[in-house]
Amino acid sequence: MRIVIIGAGVIGLATAWRAAQGGAAVTLVDPAPASGASSVAAGMLTPVSELTYGEEPLLRLGLASRDRYGAFAAELAEATGLDTGYRDDGTLQVAFDSDDLKVLDDLRAFQEGLGIPVEPLTGRECRKAEPMLAPGVRGGLLAPEDGSVDPRRLAPALLAAGERLGVRLVRRRAKGVVIERDAAAGVRLEDASEIRADKVLLAAGPWSGDLDGLPSGTVPPVRPVKGQVVRLRTPVPFLRRTTRGVVKGSSIYLVPRADGEIVIGATQEEMGFDTRVTAGGLWELLRDARELLPGITELEFAEVSAGLRPGSPDNAPLMGPTALPGLYLGTGHFRNGILLAPVSADALAAMLLDGPVPEVAAPFSPARFAPEPQ
Ligand code: FAD
Repeated sequence: MRIVIIGAGVIGLATAWRAAQGGAAVTLVDPAPASGASSVAAGMLTPVSELTYGEEPLLRLGLASRDRYGAFAAELAEATGLDTGYRDDGTLQVAFDSDDLKVLDDLRAFQEGLGIPVEPLTGRECRKAEPMLAPGVRGGLLAPEDGSVDPRRLAPALLAAGERLGVRLVRRRAKGVVIERDAAAGVRLEDASEIRADKVLLAAGPWSGDLDGLPSGTVPPVRPVKGQVVRLRTPVPFLRRTTRGVVKGSSIYLVPRADGEIVIGATQEEMGFDTRVTAGGLWELLRDARELLPGITELEFAEVSAGLRPGSPDNAPLMGPTALPGLYLGTGHFRNGILLAPVSADALAAMLLDGPVPEVAAPFSPARFAPEPQ
């Protein structure tokens, strides 16, 4: 089986690795591998703290992926000798004032209604868990099984693991999908050369709708949703685990890494393909982070960057075959592509290799957006 994957973000990279493990001859096409959202993302693995009303199937997918992460990271380390920065030390969510605490109470009722264990903490208990928190923090919730990974370590590890199994990386832009006898037959590159394949997976993040030759009805309804993040550095331990907060109604998170990096995120902006970092974005992030953790102003500033989440109409990924035989989608992972990489790769590789598809992935078929037959 020859498979071409357009896009080497975490979704394309992880699927290439899994498909190669299944015996496929895989080619990845990307002019700049892991240069999209996967290079900006904070790497939270927080399906419980991210829970949103009406997104229960996405919660189940997120939990399934989070529960695979430990083994996934260990398998990658074993295959490549590379560390992904995976941590499973829980996520603390804290409230800044009584209105924010009410938001957390509602979330807790919703989480408990779904049978998900979370631990309510008083303000004092929050500060015991994270001593650098502001004295005024009112209370919080601990999701003990949520964690984090470093996407800037994960992507090179996935690429190395794939290359060890013969995955070929072509550093070129795909211009379109080659269609023959009403089926996808490969990919056309920007220099008009072609790579022939039995199956094509479109995993180009928010650019997935931009390829030539896609019949109407197969163009994925994805759009870019801009997010800005700030990176700070600390030589001494500052935070023990991912800490999220609601500060006067707006959400903020801080993700610590073992090497002293702290990622603060993230804005959410509908700005098309704009990746400029703005003074306002930087200011809002630092302002809210400082309310929760006043000591951050002492830390070294390292970087501010912006990425484009691949958003879909229902905030959930599109994974599976399209109306064009041989063309598959693996995109639309929006806020959760790092979290969802293990489960998505398993599901997409199974589909591409005609194997059994995990039941948890079934609700995410692109068919849910297919136009009604006239
Ligand atoms: P991308 O990573 O965007 O990769 C797409 C790739 O396609 C790129 O490498 C690009 O070069 C390539 N490409 C584009 N066009 C073409 C073409 N024509 N031909 C060939 N290649 C092409 N998720 C989490 O789970 N946890 C988080 O904490 C988290 N934080 C985030 C914070 C921010 C600020 C942002 C922006 C995102 C965050 N996300 C997070 C979301 C996550 O980053 C995305 O869902 C995920 O990276 C999507 O991966 P992808 O492989 O689909 O796309």
